[in-house]
Amino acid sequence: MTTTAPRDEQLWSRCDGCASLLYRKRLRRNLDVCPECGTHARLDAPDRVAQLADPDSFIPLPDRAVRVDPIGFVDALPYPHRLSAARAGTGLDEAVLCGTARIGGQPVALAVMDFRFLGGSLGCAVGELITATAERALVDEVPLVLVTASGGARMQEGALSLMQMATVSQAIAGLREAGLLTVSVITDPTYGGVAASFATNTDVVLAESGARLGFAGPRVIRQVTGATLPEGFQTAEFLLRHGQIDMVVPRHALRGRLTALLAAAQAGRRAARRLSVPRQEPAPRPAPGADATALATAAGPERDAWATVRAARHPGRPTTLDYLETAFDGFVELHGDRLGADCPAIVGGVARLDGRSVMVIGHQKGHTTAELVARNFGMASPAGHRKALRLMRLAARLGLPVVTLVDTPGADPGVSAEQQGQAAAIAENILALSVLSTPVVAVVTGEGGSGGALALAVADRVLMLENAVYSVISPEGCAAILWSDSSAAPQAARALRLTAADLCRLGVVDEVVPEPRPAAHDDPAGAAELLRRAVAANLTPLLDVPAATLVRRRRYRFRRYGAAHTTEVCQ
Ligand SMILES: [Zn+2]
Repeated sequence: MTTTAPRDEQLWSRCDGCASLLYRKRLRRNLDVCPECGTHARLDAPDRVAQLADPDSFIPLPDRAVRVDPIGFVDALPYPHRLSAARAGTGLDEAVLCGTARIGGQPVALAVMDFRFLGGSLGCAVGELITATAERALVDEVPLVLVTASGGARMQEGALSLMQMATVSQAIAGLREAGLLTVSVITDPTYGGVAASFATNTDVVLAESGARLGFAGPRVIRQVTGATLPEGFQTAEFLLRHGQIDMVVPRHALRGRLTALLAAAQAGRRAARRLSVPRQEPAPRPAPGADATALATAAGPERDAWATVRAARHPGRPTTLDYLETAFDGFVELHGDRLGADCPAIVGGVARLDGRSVMVIGHQKGHTTAELVARNFGMASPAGHRKALRLMRLAARLGLPVVTLVDTPGADPGVSAEQQGQAAAIAENILALSVLSTPVVAVVTGEGGSGGALALAVADRVLMLENAVYSVISPEGCAAILWSDSSAAPQAARALRLTAADLCRLGVVDEVVPEPRPAAHDDPAGAAELLRRAVAANLTPLLDVPAATLVRRRRYRFRRYGAAHTTEVCQ
């Protein structure tokens, strides 16, 4: 709705749907839904909480330090200036409002995102706050309700913002294990990293009428594919038709639907309590002052970020199938997601590494244009992510360690990928990997592009080749948005901190795998040997760790990204 005067004195609003001029008080009484055409205006987080929670029941979580600029990001404006402006403009500390509340008399932990605050973007502080809300739900043994509104990950926090998808997902996994209901309420708009994690890996997904959700936004899809988008693309009704959400709920009915779901879960728990399921402890909190940089090991020599991006994309760079021929032996490829497709951009199967059987799953690009086209440039479809998930679970059942090789510009941003649930497919992989009961070693071999990379990279050890990159967004995409000029990609590449050395310092990556000089494509056999040694050295110590310990440590690893960067490290 477009308002005609500053908030305090506004008397009239114009509906964005039908352009009717509406008396503001009447609109408020109607929950900001146009009485003429039914358009649902966007709500800010305080208004949303007021509409959903029982009167006076909302208690905010205790204040936490949320002043962060973990990578010192500057585009036209330094990031802290953008944060200050968002705080002044919204009256909120961050893009989410979290607390405990009652809905229809049922106690819940509640996190509500606010799109006004930097587009509801998911940064370290937002990840930390939502994770803390999930942990509160676990301690209080109450359901978790998440209301999402977000453009995606916060690119000003680089790969650390990407890690928040895993941080929140491992907390949701904890609630799943404890048998506590998680519900997400999708509001308009919900995209990118939020869509591909906690918006869709909860037990029940409701979408408010008029909400849109997708992995890739319509503008990106049009740019990348040139496709004309079908009518109603990515709307709540579209998602329902394609089996991706449980229901579309008009705003007036939202409280009632949530109350009914919460009551059902409460009744189920009362019945289950007789079986006395042991309660899961929340992941241990990092000690105050825990410094992610202290976890970094042997960072390689520096190279300019943009030169590294170009090396990472070099067509001669060894692919996953090349490494399977050279660094591994006896690869037996397994195909299919068992749901209707076999994605060529993901290859996987059993192989041997130093005589030990492992499950290898990786993105496959190619060296020639024909190969690249046949492999969709290494951009996995939802079927590819589901094939990977099937192989990960198979590995856990068989007791095989998992080795993933990450090399993708990003997940497939096409129309049919959205129709088949790209966001939910990625979200499910992130969650499944966070609790997988077998060792996982991930190696970023080329491009680690955003959520598509993370869908294979929630691991016990994350390695990165010296000339690989790993980023929340492509430098070109970042430049187009923040510099309004895609030719600023080299500057964006530097600002994003996407090289192996940078990510080692930030604790996102554990070890840099050296490449032959000047780069892997000059000596593929040498590169394969270095990769083999690094994977074996990192995998061996994990083999003796009991599964429960492994999972606890892995979850702790992805838990600390929020906390470490909202405490002392980045002040
Ligand atoms: Zn209207």
